[in-house]
Amino acid sequence: MASTSRARPTGDTPAPDAGTQRAAGPDADTLIVGAGLSGLTLTLALAEAGLSSVIVDRVDPRAAVAGRADIRTTAISLSSRRLFTVLGAWQAVADGTGPIHDIRVSDAGSSRYLHYDHSAVGDEPMGHIVDNGALKASLLARLVEHSDLVTFAEPGSAAALDVTAGRATLTLEDGRVLSAPLVVAADGRGSRVRALAGIRHTTVDYHQTAVVDTIAHAESHHNLAHERFLPGGPLALLPLQGNRSALVWTERTAVAERIAQLDDASFAAALEERFGDSLGRMTPVGPRRVYPLTLTLAESGIAERVALVGDAFHALHPIAGQGFNVGVRDIAVLAEVLADASRLGLDIGGAPVLRDYQRRRRFDIMTMVASTDGLTRLFSNDIAPVRSARRIGLSIVERVPAFKRAAIRHAMGTLGTLPRLLRGEPV
Ligand SMILES: Cc1cc2nc3c(=O)[nH]c(=O)nc-3n(C[C@H](O)[C@H](O)[C@H](O)COP(=O)(O)OP(=O)(O)OC[C@H]3O[C@@H](n4cnc5c(N)ncnc54)[C@H](O)[C@@H]3O)c2cc1C
Repeated sequence: MASTSRARPTGDTPAPDAGTQRAAGPDADTLIVGAGLSGLTLTLALAEAGLSSVIVDRVDPRAAVAGRADIRTTAISLSSRRLFTVLGAWQAVADGTGPIHDIRVSDAGSSRYLHYDHSAVGDEPMGHIVDNGALKASLLARLVEHSDLVTFAEPGSAAALDVTAGRATLTLEDGRVLSAPLVVAADGRGSRVRALAGIRHTTVDYHQTAVVDTIAHAESHHNLAHERFLPGGPLALLPLQGNRSALVWTERTAVAERIAQLDDASFAAALEERFGDSLGRMTPVGPRRVYPLTLTLAESGIAERVALVGDAFHALHPIAGQGFNVGVRDIAVLAEVLADASRLGLDIGGAPVLRDYQRRRRFDIMTMVASTDGLTRLFSNDIAPVRSARRIGLSIVERVPAFKRAAIRHAMGTLGTLPRLLRGEPV
């Protein structure tokens, strides 16, 4: 082991066993590496179940939120919203979100479109557009209320992982050592913990980049989300509060880089040329950033005393606005299996518990990877037979109500057997 010194927590709460030697006992029930949306959400879900965590990120999550490090918005599905509500993190962001009542999917160059109406399956919006920074701030505020169970370690990055009987030990690059029965990798698509655990992954480079901005427009969006397929990639305009929409504009990387550099007037003109004038005059008002897009999929979601969640497990193309929602489903299942194991007095990092997590997540993840990857390839090209095939596909879904309802429920995350948090029940 590189060092036996303990991690020094930030904030007012001392780390469990602070100041003693590592051999005395684990630092917490879980070590969570990565304090992005996934890491913060999981930490809160576990705390609500009475499980303690030490969470470590290479940057201070509070400074990242204050510095607007993540300017993106996320389409939160109905089932994810239920989870955030039962965890007490939705209430603080709800008023700032934009509900999605309908979704319109169109193919450039065709007047036909597919229209999803939330009222086909009930009264609830299909989802809400939430500012990532606001959601992280709300999660952090809730974690402060659980300071007896949650410790923020000083920023640091994992350098080594050792598993011995009953315990996983993580050595950070600065020599600090943390240990727990279970380490959770929530450190994103380039996960270091995944590599340290010896889990291989596949990466597919789409050679596409998403340009993200906020757009003010003259006309109301009527809470309608637009997804328009262009040869370079999908262009999504997602309803925010008032006459504003979140833009996620995907293009081939070289084109996206040029678009991102345009001045506001030229950017608006290029956007109106591709999207049309249904929202009236458009003005970019947000910070603009680019996000290169890849598919990353871990070969396994578990290793000995290690579980992966969120983008560390599977990072998807944002074509369906589902990447984080799939991560929320990881979190809901992992929190449930860990809470149940703990209540039964079982080892929460033991192989049977982790295998249960993997088994319950496999089908959903493989379905989402296949569908987002397939959609990306189907819609990001202009070859005539492919163009015809996808237009036929859109019109079939448009005309068959059962297909449409299934697609709406899929987008809402309410299909299949759901873990308790996604049903809106405590973990
Ligand atoms: C343009 C775009 C639009 C999107 N829109 C949607 C949407 O509408 N709906 C949706 O559901 N999803 C969407 N997604 C996907 C969503 O943003 C991601 O799935 C989500 O942010 C993943 O969160 P995460 O916490 O798993 O990973 P990350 O956000 O990558 O967080 C990882 C954390 O780990 C930390 N970290 C990394 N390496 C280390 C290390 N070595 N040591 C310590 N800490 C480390 C990082 O600092 C970071 O805080 C979109 C993605 C993109 C690119």
